[in-house]
Parts: sequence; C-alpha cells; structure tokens
Amino acid sequence: MKIICIGRNYAEHAKEMNAAVPTEPVFFLKPDTAIIKDNAPFYYPDFSKEIHHEVELVMKINKPGKNIEPKFAHKYYDEIGIGIDFTARDIQAKCKEKGLPWEKAKAFDGSAPIGKFIDKKNLKDLNDINFQLTINGKVVQKGNTKDLLFSFDTIIAYVSTFLTLKKGDLIYTGTPEGVGNVEIGDRLQASIENEKLLDFQIK
Ligand code: MG
Repeated sequence: MKIICIGRNYAEHAKEMNAAVPTEPVFFLKPDTAIIKDNAPFYYPDFSKEIHHEVELVMKINKPGKNIEPKFAHKYYDEIGIGIDFTARDIQAKCKEKGLPWEKAKAFDGSAPIGKFIDKKNLKDLNDINFQLTINGKVVQKGNTKDLLFSFDTIIAYVSTFLTLKKGDLIYTGTPEGVGNVEIGDRLQASIENEKLLDFQIK
C-alpha cells in the first residue's frame, strides 16, 4: 500500500507556512514504513530538532481505480480516519530553500500515525466534519472539512489521473492551521466529532 498526502489543503495553514494557496491539489507520498498503528508510541528521531504535528483526516481506498471521475469518487472510500502527518520542519525548510524534494522531512519511519477508522455513513455530512488534536489535554489544532480547498472527491479524481489507487491506500487530506512542535513525553489525542480515534505518546 501507499500513503498519499495532500499539502496546503486549508487556506489558513498555507498562510501560516507563508505558502501560496494552491490552485490545484499538491500531493506527495510516504512509504508503508511511515505507518504507526494501534496507538504505538512515536520515537523522536535524532536527525531533527523540530518535529511538527499536522492532524489530518484520512480516506481509506476500498478498490483499485485510475482516472476516476469526480462524480464516482465517493465509491472509492467507505471509511474515514484521523492521523498525523509528522514533518521534520527544520529539514523541510532546508529542502525548500535549495529547491530539493521534501521526502526526508516527510516520509521517515513513523511519520504517519493512524487511528481507528469510522464508516463514513456514520458522519452526517462529509463537507462538515469537525476534527481536532490535543496535546497533553490542550486543543492545538481544530479543523472542519467545510474549509477544505479540495474536497475528498476532487482529491481522488485528481490523484488518480497520475497514480493508480489500490485497495488499502491511505490519503491524508491536509492539515488545518495550528501546526507546531511536539516534545518527548507529549501525549497526542485526535478525534473526529468528539470520538477519540488516536491516542499515543512521543518517546
Ligand atoms: Mg500535511
């Protein structure tokens, strides 16, 4: 399986990164070795001094697809989860400065913790999903899918023009504003509509 991540999909986050608001989806990949499941801890890597949390809603692809039309995109995912797109911001800044790819800042081991998934039928409106991240009990990021620049269906249509989607692929749909540092000892908890789906520690 592969992990596809959408960048700058909330205008307020693009602004806090001093990045332009994109006119078409921006995406990058993480390998399956980035996944952390079952609330296992994240081990702070030696190569960075600035690991940022980015809480994101995640679609789980349920069947293969290529060149998917937007009107059929909803048939390619049944479940929504929540995860963290950990980013070594110090390394990313250096890569950006030199115009180099970001992979080592984004795709490292453990950079994609993922929580439990819920059936999308249990969500009233996919364009009005509340989600949030707390660190040590304090809310640090809050988002709602009404603020997405590119909807779930638009993302699937766009990405599938370049990459064949396969069953089990995950699509991280972008982070709202409020990204920031994590520290060893922190406890991160993420929820969708007040249902806690991810709960782990930084070690
Ligand atoms: Mg992200």
